[in-house]
Amino acid sequence: MPLIRPSFLHSLRGQLALWFGGLSLLTLVSVGLYVGRLATQQVAATAGASVHATARAAADLLGASLREHELDLVLLSLAPHFTRGDLAQPAVLHSLEQRRNLREEYAWMGVTDPQGTVVQAVDGILQGQSVAQRPWFIEGQAGLYVGDVHKALLLEKLLPQQASSEPLRFIDIAAPIRNPQGALVGVVGAHIHWRWVTQTVQAAFDQHPRNQGTEILIANALGDVLYPQALASHTRLAAALPSAPTTGYARLRWDDGQEYLTSQASVQTRISQGLGWHIVVRQPLELALEPAHALRTRLLTLGLLAALAFSLVALWLARSFSRPIEQLANAARQIEQGASNARFPTDHRLIEVQQLSQSIQSMTTALLAHERELAAVNQTLETQVQQRTEALETANLELERLATRDPLTGVHNRRHFDARLLECFQTSQRTGTGFAVLLLDADHFKQVNDTHGHPAGDAVLQQLARLLNENTRAVDLVARYGGEEFAVLLPHTPGGEGSMAAAEKIRAAIAAADFPEIGHMTVSIGASVWNPADTHAHAIIERADKALYQAKGAGRNLAMAS
Ligand code: GH3
Ligand code: MG
Ligand code: MG
Repeated sequence: MPLIRPSFLHSLRGQLALWFGGLSLLTLVSVGLYVGRLATQQVAATAGASVHATARAAADLLGASLREHELDLVLLSLAPHFTRGDLAQPAVLHSLEQRRNLREEYAWMGVTDPQGTVVQAVDGILQGQSVAQRPWFIEGQAGLYVGDVHKALLLEKLLPQQASSEPLRFIDIAAPIRNPQGALVGVVGAHIHWRWVTQTVQAAFDQHPRNQGTEILIANALGDVLYPQALASHTRLAAALPSAPTTGYARLRWDDGQEYLTSQASVQTRISQGLGWHIVVRQPLELALEPAHALRTRLLTLGLLAALAFSLVALWLARSFSRPIEQLANAARQIEQGASNARFPTDHRLIEVQQLSQSIQSMTTALLAHERELAAVNQTLETQVQQRTEALETANLELERLATRDPLTGVHNRRHFDARLLECFQTSQRTGTGFAVLLLDADHFKQVNDTHGHPAGDAVLQQLARLLNENTRAVDLVARYGGEEFAVLLPHTPGGEGSMAAAEKIRAAIAAADFPEIGHMTVSIGASVWNPADTHAHAIIERADKALYQAKGAGRNLAMAS
């Protein structure tokens, strides 16, 4: 079996570390994101509420202060020395100066006659001049008027110079002066420094606890920013400022492209239409949500660290779980390679691993014992098969011997001789190679039996066979052809001389031999050779038989050819 080397990620320890780390990372990052989201919502709500409270507080304070100043003008317009109709009397100027001295935000106070000519004014400023075209005069004839901020067109040159580089700006308040009959006798007006408005708003803003980056703005009814000066000319309020009573704030994108938590509160003055001013407080969303983002970052960092720690713990656990399994695999591999003393881990603290190890060990022992038994059985079987094969071969040889040999003499039998004769005949017909046949018959053999007994005759026949074998070539075939008749097949013996020489050699050897049972014995031999004209093998035998007959007739102990 090829050795499998899995990559780390496909190993038990790799998989455990990956899953533990991945799941803990997923869990902790999900929790981190969810908590971060909750924290973001919570922080946004808190910051939004704070922004809204600041806006409301500043708007309320400015509204209350403006109403006070409206009241100042209303009270002056209703004073008896005003309503009597003679606005040139000193008491009128005195009242105006008293007011101006009490509240230094009044830049200018004065009264006009019904035609718009200033009758009296503090410090004599604009006295005798016409303000008939000024909105505060036009509007002030009809009722209480509060005018939007404007530059000091007439007053700028007359008032003392300011240290600040800001242009002088004012808001105007005016109220009609009517005599007891209700006829208009003039208009009382005041210019309040814009600086006072911004300081009032800024004071409210400063008193309120503030978050980082928070700004306060004053906007008019058209949405133009009036304060702070830096934003005044080029910033308009973001569209769709929230008026939702539930939250009081919204996330809005301003014209600088940034998102802000924004809240607005309208400034309520005494007159019904009011100024239409709004106090707007805004905080960059980025800064407002900074604590929540910091918390989320901390949570995610903690999540990553925890996932790393879990992975390391999982790796350690997986190592301790996988080590015995690897040892088991090693032991199994050693056994596969033929080692019988492989060590199995048995001292692991997990019961399952111990059980597995013991089971594999006992299974291996049983398998090895079984294998040894099988080997022994195989060995026995192999030996038996070998013995049977040898016996079979012996039996086959014996069978062949029995089938082809003569039992008494051990030379080939007639059946085998005939088969070989036919082979030789066919080969000669095909190739032209000639062969010869000798037929031998013992002379007066009947007498041997009669004189010495049949067993002695058998012994003589056996000795004749031996003599035939000894006096022929290895390629020649000796066979017992009948009772006391033998035949010899001489392959590659084409001519009569060869066959006659062989026949004579045999005859002489037998005639010279000593036969213990009877003394001496002779044979008569008929020889013949293959003739290409022969149509069947037996023709050669017939010729040999004929020669044998002639040899018998000629006196025996002779070899003759035919
Ligand atoms: P001839 O010279 O004319 O051949 O005279 P012969 O006596 O040999 O005459 P024949 O061929 O008729 O006799 C053969 C005898 O061989 C007859 C038989 O009893 C004997 N004989 C044949 N087979 C065996 C055998 O297997 N064993 C023994 N002992 N004698 C056999
Ligand atoms: Mg005979
Ligand atoms: Mg005979």
